[in-house]
Amino acid sequence: MDAMTATPARRVRRVLLAAPRGYCAGVDRAVIAVEKALEQYGAPVYVRHEIVHNKYVVQTLEKKGAVFVERTDEVPEGSIVMFSAHGVAPVVHEEAAARGLATIDATCPLVTKVHREAVRYAKEDFDILLIGHEGHEEVIGTSGEAPEHITLVDGPEEAAQVEVRDPSKVVWLSQTTLSVDETMETVGALKEKFPQLLSPPSDDICYATQNRQIAVKQMGAEADLVIVVGSRNSSNSKRLVEVALQAGARTAHLVDYASEIDESWLEGVATVGVTSGASVPDVLVEGVLEWLSERGFEDVEIVKTAEESITFSLPKELRRDLRAEADQRQAEARERPAAESA
Ligand code: SF4
Repeated sequence: MDAMTATPARRVRRVLLAAPRGYCAGVDRAVIAVEKALEQYGAPVYVRHEIVHNKYVVQTLEKKGAVFVERTDEVPEGSIVMFSAHGVAPVVHEEAAARGLATIDATCPLVTKVHREAVRYAKEDFDILLIGHEGHEEVIGTSGEAPEHITLVDGPEEAAQVEVRDPSKVVWLSQTTLSVDETMETVGALKEKFPQLLSPPSDDICYATQNRQIAVKQMGAEADLVIVVGSRNSSNSKRLVEVALQAGARTAHLVDYASEIDESWLEGVATVGVTSGASVPDVLVEGVLEWLSERGFEDVEIVKTAEESITFSLPKELRRDLRAEADQRQAEARERPAAESA
């Protein structure tokens, strides 16, 4: 063929879809807890803070009758209030009790684990260096467990300024949704300053955050563009964008919906990586895949780096009430035939 008339070979367009992605066990539990509470008690059910950091999830639950508030004093006295998956400080439980609110605690059990560690080390009179992002709901909740013992360290560059009472009695804990690599960098910097720094007995960064980062690392290394589905206030989703870029992706963007993708991002792109944060329902990822498919990215390859099978039972207050209602229904069913035959 004449070189002048040949069309340049089109690079094969493909999508790499990370697995695992999306909902983790803590988010799944929290979202189901709101839905069950609405069924059990009827609307409105008040939820302190966004139950999980996802716009779509929050809007969907609002339509069903959930009312999201930022402060406990916004909840009318005598109502039901649910605490979000990020956890709350003990003072919030006290405020709720003072207002006569019935509470349902949807704090993720893996966040509760960090709270318990904070309480334990504070009792042993350790200085606790909490690695996390200032202002994040989870960090506020964990810090509230032992405010006099906890110092927040927001990244490796803050390590040099940290002061403790006794360098031989200091431990680090962390927010559950951080970048694993950056956290280890911060720990390294803290260890240089405090060689006797104690580590927590097990990872505070949760399995879901770690698994999603491992998958995006593998996928990001091959992708020209990575699209992370997640909200801007979602810590673990934002970390996925950073990890994708560190892994070698040319660009990476965070979007709530497919409609936020800019056509220009696809210029010169052959491989698009797609993943989603731990608070994102898969229907939003499906929207992105459809959008890409309409633009020639029909070939979808799964990049699977882990299997997840963890589930958490519903919050105990909700289980108690659901069980009581089921028992009552059973008792009524037992009495009915006796009454009918009388
Ligand atoms: Fe729990 Fe981790 Fe999910 Fe947060 S991201 S809700 S800590 S499992």
